[in-house]
Amino acid sequence: MGKTLKTTCKMCRREGVSLCGKEKCALKRRAYPPGVHGPAQAMKKPRLSSYGLQLREKQKAKRLYNVMERQFSRYFEMASQKKGNTADFLIQVLERRLDNVVYRLGIGKTRRQARQMVNHCFVTVNGESVNIPSFSVKVGDVIGIKENKKTKGLLTGMSERLKSVDAPRWLSLDSAIISGKVTSLPEGEDLKTVFDPTLIVEFYSR
Ligand code: ZN
Repeated sequence: MGKTLKTTCKMCRREGVSLCGKEKCALKRRAYPPGVHGPAQAMKKPRLSSYGLQLREKQKAKRLYNVMERQFSRYFEMASQKKGNTADFLIQVLERRLDNVVYRLGIGKTRRQARQMVNHCFVTVNGESVNIPSFSVKVGDVIGIKENKKTKGLLTGMSERLKSVDAPRWLSLDSAIISGKVTSLPEGEDLKTVFDPTLIVEFYSR
């Protein structure tokens, strides 16, 4: 991972939308862009060109999923090659990332933490260890945690915590064994998100 990893809630405040997934997102306390001119910027509505607007949405999406430009444009490429709605496919391909699924299941409190869990070999897919955050899950895949990691640090009390998690409908969560199954691909309602994917499609179609 490159530079984007070290950013904090600056990105949330820059985009004006919480992207970090943290309960205590700094945007809640300081709802204006970062930097000394932040409060002043919040007062006047920024005039963005259509290019500017498209770019912002792309940045938002990249930051939300912590994906670098090259990977992101590859996702767009994949989505645009499919027959149908490119914007929907783009979100679908992002949602299918293993680190995102670990986050969606509530096993990782944030996408960053979920990614670390994958990187540190905590996560299994169909019983096999997978340490690639960008690994794309498919219908039927079962995502779990290695047995020998279940008693470690941040995983103690996990089952209990997961009971209150409201997993998206395309995933079924079994909190008792800290495991989730991909029952379908995200579609329709599941694709609702904080950025407008059609602007991203426009960006790459320029
Ligand atoms: Zn934040």
